[in-house]
Amino acid sequence: MTVDCSKCDSPVETDRKHMSCSTCQLIFHTHCAYVSNLKYDVLNERDSNIFWFCHACKITTKSMFNQLAQVLLELAEIKSERDQQKNEIATLSNLVRALTKRIKMIEDETQVYASNLESTHTMVTDMLAELPQATSIEEGFASLEDRIDQMSQQNSVDTKPCDIEQRVLQIEKNYEEFEVAI
Ligand SMILES: [Zn+2]
Ligand SMILES: [Zn+2]
Repeated sequence: MTVDCSKCDSPVETDRKHMSCSTCQLIFHTHCAYVSNLKYDVLNERDSNIFWFCHACKITTKSMFNQLAQVLLELAEIKSERDQQKNEIATLSNLVRALTKRIKMIEDETQVYASNLESTHTMVTDMLAELPQATSIEEGFASLEDRIDQMSQQNSVDTKPCDIEQRVLQIEKNYEEFEVAI
């Protein structure tokens, strides 16, 4: 059987020495493939199914390897960017968790303050209700001072002495106004 050599277009006897490209399967004369008789014999001694690539396929393969190397490089860069993004997301998640915790704490504190304010309001209302029942000014003040002491003990926030003085003065003033009114 004969086929045309892909280099010189002359016939090649396929049952005689020739080279066949392992990639494109094209047939060449050994001399057209730049394979010496010695090289041909050495190649055939090693393996009957020798791998040999024509010049065009060698160039294509080399270019494919270069492209593959480029793709691998880009993949490595993408992976590195993704890892960096993962780290940033983790940092943000931690920040959000810490903020949520802090908001919860503030909410709890606000609830305690609201509860204290409510009990103070109840006590002041009680005090105002009891004022007209006091038989003397001294008795009225003694009862008020007891109430203020109770409030200071019940509320977690310490009442400063000057606050108590101011409150007593205010109550005194209210009482005077109350006496004038009756
Ligand atoms: Zn040829
Ligand atoms: Zn080839």
